[in-house]
Amino acid sequence: MKITEINHFNHHHKLKLSYSGTPYQCDGCKELGFGSCYQCNNEKCDFHLHENCGVAKPIATHSFFKNINFKYEKKGKQGKTCKACGKDVQGFMYKSKETYLHPSCLELPSTLNGDFNGRSLRLNLKVKASTKCLICQNKEISKGKLKGWAYISSCGKHCYHVGCVNNLNFENWKMGYFNQSQSGGVTNGLVFINEENRGSSSGRKENERPLMRYALNLIVQAVLGAVVSSWIS
Ligand SMILES: [Zn+2]
Ligand SMILES: [Zn+2]
Ligand SMILES: [Zn+2]
Ligand SMILES: [Zn+2]
Repeated sequence: MKITEINHFNHHHKLKLSYSGTPYQCDGCKELGFGSCYQCNNEKCDFHLHENCGVAKPIATHSFFKNINFKYEKKGKQGKTCKACGKDVQGFMYKSKETYLHPSCLELPSTLNGDFNGRSLRLNLKVKASTKCLICQNKEISKGKLKGWAYISSCGKHCYHVGCVNNLNFENWKMGYFNQSQSGGVTNGLVFINEENRGSSSGRKENERPLMRYALNLIVQAVLGAVVSSWIS
């Protein structure tokens, strides 16, 4: 059962489980979120937490790390980066020895299933990219340092780093593009930035563009935490 109201050490008002129709920055982990969240009803506060940050599990595990328990910590560590996306851990995080993960990265669905004009599309979360990421055009997110997790389609054609999609989301969020999107964003697509450049630079066929855009949009939603578990099989 969902907890609909919480008291949280990070805020002096009660927080209610709500739905945010535009992306927000989580005041716990500092990453972006969308959809279900704990929110302060006092608008002046503009305070949001990912659902999983509001009611954080003290210990978490992940299928990529066998027999390892990650411990929830309230404070990030300067200069330490998330193993999944390569971004700094600036707030709530999960830690095991020298491995750090954002709560939102830890919760990324292992598979995303979509249907594009009757063509089924399946994207699997992998510990590293198998081909070049279609955003940064590299296999590693930070050369020689971090490979970074990636979503890869079962056909192998679509490969995107979680971290690159996360950066894309932040760019769009800072530019205010998410707020401009009409009729609720998600169904309309959350992919805006440099789509033309990114599509053409990879030398794909023109008719594959809509599918690429569709695949990227699925991942954008997953990274924002907008994918509800019932969509995942
Ligand atoms: Zn969070
Ligand atoms: Zn408040
Ligand atoms: Zn991360
Ligand atoms: Zn990339």
